[in-house]
Amino acid sequence: MLKDRLSAPCPKCHAEMMYVAALPHPKSPTMRKTTFVCYACNQTRSYALSEEMANAYVASHGDPLLAVDTETPATHAT
Ligand SMILES: [Zn+2]
Repeated sequence: MLKDRLSAPCPKCHAEMMYVAALPHPKSPTMRKTTFVCYACNQTRSYALSEEMANAYVASHGDPLLAVDTETPATHAT
């Protein structure tokens, strides 16, 4: 179940990390390498999330960086 508010607490300082981007996982096509940044630690952290979870972050936060990923042709459901 998804929380109503998508956030990822920093494992170090427990501040809420900002969602940055979700990129295709190099080893698992069903996973997304999702990047968060903790501004308190000034550090990015990447997590492998399921595509469903990553898409939920994208939908929740918007993802301008995802459009930069030109290696994978965008699939548009029409
Ligand atoms: Zn932190």
